Amino acid sequence: MADQYDVVIIGGGPGGYNCAIRAGQLGLKTALVEKRQTLGGTCLNVGCIPSKALLHASELYEEAEKNFKGLGIEIGDLSLNLQQMLAQKDDAVKGLTDGVKFLMKKNKVDVHHGWGSIAGKGKVSVKDEDGKTTELSAKNIVIATGSEVTPLPGVEIDEERVVSSTGALVLKEVPKKLVLIGAGVIGLELGSVWRRLGAEVTVVEYLDRALPTMDGEVSKTAKKLFEKQGMTFLLSRKVTGVEKAKSGLKVSTEAAEGGDEKTLDADVVLVCIGRRPFIEGLGLESVGIEADKRGFIANDHFKTKADGVWVIGDVTHGPMLAHKAEEEGAACAELIAGKAGHVNYDAIPSVVYTNPEIASVGLTEEQLKEQGRKYKTGKFPFMANSRGRTNHQTDGFVKILADAETDEILGGHIIGPNAGELIAELVVAMEFRAASEDIARTCHAHPTLSEAIRQAAMGVEGWTMQM
Ligand code: FAD
Ligand code: NAD
Repeated sequence: MADQYDVVIIGGGPGGYNCAIRAGQLGLKTALVEKRQTLGGTCLNVGCIPSKALLHASELYEEAEKNFKGLGIEIGDLSLNLQQMLAQKDDAVKGLTDGVKFLMKKNKVDVHHGWGSIAGKGKVSVKDEDGKTTELSAKNIVIATGSEVTPLPGVEIDEERVVSSTGALVLKEVPKKLVLIGAGVIGLELGSVWRRLGAEVTVVEYLDRALPTMDGEVSKTAKKLFEKQGMTFLLSRKVTGVEKAKSGLKVSTEAAEGGDEKTLDADVVLVCIGRRPFIEGLGLESVGIEADKRGFIANDHFKTKADGVWVIGDVTHGPMLAHKAEEEGAACAELIAGKAGHVNYDAIPSVVYTNPEIASVGLTEEQLKEQGRKYKTGKFPFMANSRGRTNHQTDGFVKILADAETDEILGGHIIGPNAGELIAELVVAMEFRAASEDIARTCHAHPTLSEAIRQAAMGVEGWTMQM
C-alpha cells in the first residue's frame, strides 16, 4: 500500500523546500522527493550559496591586495590559498543544506531521496540510487524540479576545462585566461571571482550590451566599471566552437550577424548563456501535461492543466531566482490548504553580487518607454553620499522611476555598495504602493548608504539636497 500524503513535492530546491515547510506548518501531511543526497537544490548546492561564498572571499582578497594599504593596514606579502577558499565555500553549503534537513524534520515533512516521477493522477514513484522504487499517493503533487544549464551547440561541457557554473565553482587552479560565453549574471559574478584571484577574463556576449535585462543606464555603467577592473567585453559576438588542444583551448568567435571571425586563447571557458527548465523523466505525459517549446510548464496561480498537479520555481515562467521560487512555494502551499496564497510579481528584486553590487526592482526606463507610460526620474550618485565617500565606495548611483501623475514608484535601480541590501527599502515601498515622496519624507540615518535612496527619491520632485 502506497504512503498517503496531502502533498508530495518533487524537487528540494528553494521552491520545493519552502513549499514543504509552509505545507507542514499548515498541518498538511507532506513529502519531499529529491534526487540529490542533500536538500537545497541548485541554490544551496551549486548556485547562490557557493557563488556568494567565493564572491565574498575573493572580494576580501582583492581589497587586501589593492586597498588595505591606503587604509593604513600593512599585511606584508599576500598569498592565495585556493584550497582553503574552496573549503570555506563547501562549509557554507554544508551548514545550510543540513539546516534545510533540520527544517524538514521540524515541520514533519518526510524526505524521500530518489528520482521522482508522476505515475498517473495522485501517484508519484520514487526510484532511489539502489534502484528500489517507492510508491507515494498524493492528493496534490507539486512540481519543483528547477532548471539546468542551457547548453551551447558545438561546445561540449566537460566541467574541467569547458565548464558550466557548477565546474566554475570548483576549479583546481586559477586559470590564466578565462573566456566567458554570456555577459549575464553568472558570467559577471563568477568572472569577477576568478578575475580577482588573477585570471585574465574575456566576455563574449551575443547582444550589444552586458546584463541586457537590466536598466540600460545601469548596464552601461556596470560594463564601464567591470572594464576598469580589467574585464574585456566582446559584444555583438558569438562563439561558434571550442577546440580542445593539449596546452589550451581555442575559442572560435564571429560577429553576431556572421563574418569577422576571430579566435581567442583560453585555459578555461565558462558557458553561461542562461538556464532551462528541468523536466527529464518527470512523467508529465502520465497526467497529460505538455511543456512548451522551451521546457516551461505553464501555470495559472501555480495550477497546471492537470487536476491536483501544481508547479513552482524555475521550471515555470518568471524570473529564475531563488526568492521567486520561495515565494511561489509558500503561496502554492497556502492555496492547497484553502488559503489565499499570492505572489506580487511586480515587486521581485534581482541582485547581481559583483563589486559594486547591482540591484533592481520593478520596471526599467526602457520598459516604461515601451509601454508609453509617463514617468519622472530621480537619481543620486554614491560619489555625493557621505558614507560612500567615507568608505571609498563611490562608484554607481540610485535611480528611482515614478509615475508622472500619481508619483507611485514603478522601478528602482541601484548600482553601488550594498545595492543588494539597499534594494529592500524600495521593494517594501513598492509592496505598499508608496509614492516617491513617501521615501523622500522618511528620515534616514546619517551617515548611511540608504541616504542615497532618499536623495534619489527627493530628486523625483527636483529637491535633492546634497548635490
Ligand atoms: P532548484 O533549486 O533547481 O531545485 C530543484 C531540485 O529538484 C534540484 O535539487 C533537483 O535535484 C531536484 N529534481 C529535479 N528533478 C527531480 C526529480 N525528477 N526527482 C527528484 N528531484 C528532482 N538565484 C538567486 O535568487 N540569487 C542568487 O544569488 C543566485 N545565484 C545563482 C548562482 C548560480 C551559479 C546559479 C546556477 C543559479 C543562481 N541562482 C540565484 C538561481 C537559483 O539557484 C534558482 O533560481 C533556484 O535554485 C530555483 O529554485 P527551484 O526550487 O525552482 O529549483
Ligand atoms: P543570463 O540570462 O543572466 O545571461 C545569459 C547571457 O548570455 C545573456 O546576456 C545573453 O544575451 C547571453 N547569450 C545567450 N546566448 C548566447 C550565445 N550563444 N553567445 C553569447 N552570449 C549569449 O543567464 P546566466 O548568467 O547563465 O544565469 C542563468 C540564470 O541563473 C539567470 O536566469 C539568473 O536569474 C540566475 N542567476 C541569478 C543570480 C543572482 O540572482 N545573483 C546569479 C546567478 C544566476
